[in-house]
Amino acid sequence: MKDLSKQKVRGIVIESTSKGENDKWLTLLCKDIGKITVKSRGCRKPNSKLFGCSGLFCYCDYIIDDHLKYNQLISGDSLKSFFVGCDNLKKLSLANYFAYMTNKMLRPEQADNEFMYFLLKGLQALDSGLNDLACAGYIFELRSLEIIGFLPCPDDCCTSCGSRETTYFTPEGVLCGECAAKNGVRVDKNTLYALKSIFEEPLESVFKLKFDKDIKPVLSDCAALAMRYYMKKCFKDTDMFKDENWY
Ligand SMILES: [Zn+2]
Repeated sequence: MKDLSKQKVRGIVIESTSKGENDKWLTLLCKDIGKITVKSRGCRKPNSKLFGCSGLFCYCDYIIDDHLKYNQLISGDSLKSFFVGCDNLKKLSLANYFAYMTNKMLRPEQADNEFMYFLLKGLQALDSGLNDLACAGYIFELRSLEIIGFLPCPDDCCTSCGSRETTYFTPEGVLCGECAAKNGVRVDKNTLYALKSIFEEPLESVFKLKFDKDIKPVLSDCAALAMRYYMKKCFKDTDMFKDENWY
């Protein structure tokens, strides 16, 4: 465990669990450090100075003390407030899903500033009155799997035999008709181009990508297939995706 004694960390709350009468245990995703768990004592009292910095999606400069064998929150200076879902339950579900998946995909203390920035951009997109929530959902799924190094960016050639004909998306790469596994998603040139843009667009603007309406359901199918595959293979989680394309 890294020594965090009275350390200043920049982080965002990705999990919050109420404990006792007034406390919370928070999981923070921190810049340069990764995930840490901290206790926020008394934060559920409305007059607590920790009240405003201990909620899900709070993004703050935190002061943390670990002299009690666990990390304890001392204070938090807000950098940005996300209000996702105050006006829209579906948006709140999606923001919760982003936070849940981030927590699941990153190992404790695996510093990943790129992922943190990506999450912030995703929440910002939800906050800014985005109207295509499903699109934000599959962009988050596909790009997050790429950032953690699982999902390869679609190639111009079949991953298996090198043929220039690429007609199926699979979680391990694009394949030609000959090599395709039965569970691949059939994709045309336009869909492949759209998929590539999700992988290659700078994180700054990835949630601003727009797609034709005939491509959207195919992108959603690709994301669902990739999530199901990697959740089962890498996280032993098979319960998450009973309701595909829920967002
Ligand atoms: Zn092939």
